[in-house]
Amino acid sequence: MRIARFAHGGDVGYGIVEEVQPDGAAGAAAGAEAEGLVVAELIGHPFGIGDESVRLTGARYPLADVRLLAPVLPSKVVAVGKNYADHAREMGGEPPEDPVIFLKPSTAVVGPREPIIYPAHLSERVDFEGELAVVIGRLCRQVPPERVPEVVFGYTCANDVTARDLQAKDGQWARAKGFDTFCPLGPWIETDADPSDLELTTIVNGEIRQNSRTSLLLHDVTALIAYVSAVMTLLPGDVLLTGTPAGVGPLKDGDEVSVTIEGIGTLTNGVATGD
Ligand code: MN
Repeated sequence: MRIARFAHGGDVGYGIVEEVQPDGAAGAAAGAEAEGLVVAELIGHPFGIGDESVRLTGARYPLADVRLLAPVLPSKVVAVGKNYADHAREMGGEPPEDPVIFLKPSTAVVGPREPIIYPAHLSERVDFEGELAVVIGRLCRQVPPERVPEVVFGYTCANDVTARDLQAKDGQWARAKGFDTFCPLGPWIETDADPSDLELTTIVNGEIRQNSRTSLLLHDVTALIAYVSAVMTLLPGDVLLTGTPAGVGPLKDGDEVSVTIEGIGTLTNGVATGD
């Protein structure tokens, strides 16, 4: 099931993204294109409830007629550094034995098609990092690996936008990772994905820049949630970024960057200079 948060007219809500069948009936979504997709509006929000209790308002909108928003408003975004060996090496080192985690502020989150604002007053090097994001569905702490599936709501695409010069300069990464708009998420949450071996592709201005598979994660989703939840309570809607593969590189004003994950969808954002 694909769960989107969207705006239609003046209203904001959650909905299930479905494919319109040739006979006009809606079914499970299969394609990633806006054509032929509709959003069936949900009553309330989808977190903390089972599939049986998903209730629809009855309203359906063509996907092309709504604006997709970031699919969650997390209390925090927990991210993992150097979780693909080839990326750790391109950053000039070997991957650490244990996951290195950091936080991105909730205010960094933006949705599909919202611009990444380049903070030209403070940085001269802003990079894209395409990543698989995990959305937490239940309040949890100290989750043992065998119970991780119970706390995962679903998966979406993320761009862990990074001011690379500030990351090197500061040591601590709060500035480099924390600018407003530095955490695009979307286009929706896929609740049925198996994250063990999905292709991940990042494209900038039509050119493939990153292409890898989640089977190459050094610490997989199960290990990461157990590791992070041993430290901090995770709340419904919290997001875990699982790390980026090799191929990271700079963005500039006017660029368009897309992160596509097999079975989930494509997250696209432009880049605009801010002040
Ligand atoms: Mn990252």
